[in-house]
Amino acid sequence: MIVVIGSINMDLVLRVPRMPLPGETLTGGAFRTIPGGKGANQAVACARLGRTQVAMVGCVGDDAFGATLRAALAADGIDVSHVSALPGVATGVASILVDANGQNSIVIAGGANDLLTPALIDAALPLIARASIVVLQLETPLDTVRHAIAVAHGLGKTVVLNPAPAASLPAGVLAQVDYLVPNEIEAAMLLGADIAADDHATTAAALRAAGCRNVLVTLGAKGVHAALADGSRDFPARAVAAVDTTAAGDTFIGGFVAALAAGADPASAIDLGQRAAAIGVTRHGAQTSIPYLNELAPT
Ligand code: ADP
Repeated sequence: MIVVIGSINMDLVLRVPRMPLPGETLTGGAFRTIPGGKGANQAVACARLGRTQVAMVGCVGDDAFGATLRAALAADGIDVSHVSALPGVATGVASILVDANGQNSIVIAGGANDLLTPALIDAALPLIARASIVVLQLETPLDTVRHAIAVAHGLGKTVVLNPAPAASLPAGVLAQVDYLVPNEIEAAMLLGADIAADDHATTAAALRAAGCRNVLVTLGAKGVHAALADGSRDFPARAVAAVDTTAAGDTFIGGFVAALAAGADPASAIDLGQRAAAIGVTRHGAQTSIPYLNELAPT
């Protein structure tokens, strides 16, 4: 089993001709709600890109968005028994404006995600105990993430951490992480940013020196630089015409984890994650863009 612990949001996506100025009202937008949140996206990607059972641990509110998001996860075959619907709380939302050039501006209201407590992680212990891999991000409270990593590591689980959105982490956390998967900005943030952003090998090596067993720095259209326990390598991305890179990292991570759970070696798992993300960026939205295993061309 793969257990994903993290955020569950409804993305409120408004396509606009251009960004409004402060105080200005624009008309002519097109609106869609799309299930999102890094945790939920990664759970969906794990489920669609593999055959291992996936369970999600997180919080929604007891509102219409919460019910819709829980049902969407369940529709992908994900165990939602530890997705708590908290009374009197709003489900997390991301309000996203996308202009005609594809440029976006985003405001997130964490809502129920901010109430994922260490006690809710402890309540999910029977689930975590059955997992082979536990996947986390940073869109839920840091104390809870720290606690969950310590619990999973203590149980001997493979811990995958996507340190997004960018934050610095307390010492000791990285030493409990088996696969750290930051993008370039997140990697720099973790290191306190003294290292030139284009020196990926040095960045990844420094993060390994901080204690993570393996570091995969995602580089957008440039692919992935991986510093693995058995050596470092660049993995170029597939060349595609991207239309929307929302959830590219989430799709990559889900594909990578699904392949690892199926017994693939890290290099093959990185390849599967990148093939999935390359399809995802040719489609709009978060969970709407994540492909299924049978859509991936054979290698
Ligand atoms: P994040 O979304 O977390 O910032 P990245 O932008 O680094 O993550 O993208 C994650 C992965 O998705 C990349 O390593 C790559 O495999 C794939 N990807 C992202 N953008 C593109 C693109 N324009 N073309 C092909 N693959 C892409």
